[in-house]
Amino acid sequence: MNFPPRRKRSDKKNNSENRKVKSGTNGKAVVNAFLLAPHGSYDVPHFVKVGYYHDKPFTCRDCDKAEIWTATQQKWWFEIAKGDVFTQAQRCCSGSASIGKSESGS
Ligand SMILES: [Zn+2]
Repeated sequence: MNFPPRRKRSDKKNNSENRKVKSGTNGKAVVNAFLLAPHGSYDVPHFVKVGYYHDKPFTCRDCDKAEIWTATQQKWWFEIAKGDVFTQAQRCCSGSASIGKSESGS
């Protein structure tokens, strides 16, 4: 199992447990690797290595807008929707249909 690198111990005192339930997640969400869709590759996605999803900037292919694919959205996509672990967000406009392979070509 991967555990996050420990940061400052001092924030123990303001009970941080209660906070992560909120919608804002500090740009991070814990990876539950058991829920991921199986993939045939030996390659391990970065978020599995580090144990966290991070907010990820991307540029929408339709409207060229700079957007953030949030950690929470990634967690949903990979663990609930069982999205391919090597896909990423490409469009801001249309929900899960907007996610596709990051590389092109076959
Ligand atoms: Zn867009």
